[in-house]
Amino acid sequence: MAAMRKPDKKIIFIIAEHHESRTKSIVFELAACADKIKKFCPAEIKVIILESETEKLSFEITRATGLDAVAIEINELALYNAEIYKTVINDLAEEYFPSFIVIGHTARGLDVASGLAVRMKAACITGVEGLSEAGGRLCFKRQMFFGKINAHIAAGSEPLIITVQPGSFEAYKPDSANPGRVETRRVECFAELTRATGIRRCKFQDSSISEAKVIISAGNGIGEKENLDLIYRMADVFPGSTVGGSRILVDRGWLEYRQQVGLTGARVAPELYIACGISGASQHLAGMRDAGFVVSINKDPGAAIFNESDVCIVEDLKKFIPAFLEEYGKREI
Ligand SMILES: Cc1cc2nc3c(=O)[nH]c(=O)nc-3n(C[C@H](O)[C@H](O)[C@H](O)COP(=O)(O)OP(=O)(O)OC[C@H]3O[C@@H](n4cnc5c(N)ncnc54)[C@H](O)[C@@H]3O)c2cc1C
Repeated sequence: MAAMRKPDKKIIFIIAEHHESRTKSIVFELAACADKIKKFCPAEIKVIILESETEKLSFEITRATGLDAVAIEINELALYNAEIYKTVINDLAEEYFPSFIVIGHTARGLDVASGLAVRMKAACITGVEGLSEAGGRLCFKRQMFFGKINAHIAAGSEPLIITVQPGSFEAYKPDSANPGRVETRRVECFAELTRATGIRRCKFQDSSISEAKVIISAGNGIGEKENLDLIYRMADVFPGSTVGGSRILVDRGWLEYRQQVGLTGARVAPELYIACGISGASQHLAGMRDAGFVVSINKDPGAAIFNESDVCIVEDLKKFIPAFLEEYGKREI
């Protein structure tokens, strides 16, 4: 890709995230974040789409956002590869000189962002949840020390790469109904160090924890593994729900790691989070603080989780959940 003269206007890249030709919802949150950056410093936004076939994704993204896209088709990306992403985005950056590169704070985004920053000698701020202004400078808000404090960080240089926490920005709604333009190119790029050999499907096919609208989360308070059945039955009541849990249950092998909520698990932002038998350790709270509405069931009235809850149910979950399911069953009839 040929290097060009530095543009007069600033450029913001959004790196699209997708899976099996379906756009991930984080893309629309990244667009909202980029739009907020643009309000602070006028810029042109370009969504960068990397895939082996980009037509469906480009159509979907440019129609929904009205933003322009650069779609790069690379045969080798039939399976995602971070090395190819970093090489191609770096090449595009040498062509367009973006001031900001906005990436999801997701497993895939984190796989790309830090290495890309090293390659581009760019500043990198991860886990961004909001924007602010201090002394005429654009600052990026992120949590520190397990969510105990918020830091507002300004970058000392450009380009700046940021990763955006899912659920931090409302999905972007464009002012105009016009779709953005798409520039499609096909390039050859090979990974030298890593090669994806295939995808092994997880046996669960429910909503992924980072996209679920409702999460029913189980903690040590469930007592026996058999009581997980209560949690799954409760999840069945809520459409678009999934089951999560605290690390203790994952360490015991009762839940899979992908279900762990918290500092060393997933950071989630569902509309409703129901914590069942979870004490509210800071490491767990760090993963669910962005939930819209929190209901907790705990038999200890002093449990720390209650400080983070909208509804606090002081009860033995083995009594409460069956009573809830019974009552719900009656109402369905
Ligand atoms: C570096 C580090 C990283 C960590 N990362 C994570 C992480 O990502 N996610 C995470 O979850 N943890 C993480 N932890 C562990 C964390 O510190 C806590 O140990 C863990 O979150 C506690 O899980 P819990 O609330 O399920 O269990 P507990 O703390 O044992 O709490 C159980 C709760 O259930 C209640 N209870 C008991 N019986 C009942 C009943 N019958 N009905 C209703 N309530 C009942 C109790 O009152 C209690 O409040 C991490 C720890 C470290 C050191």
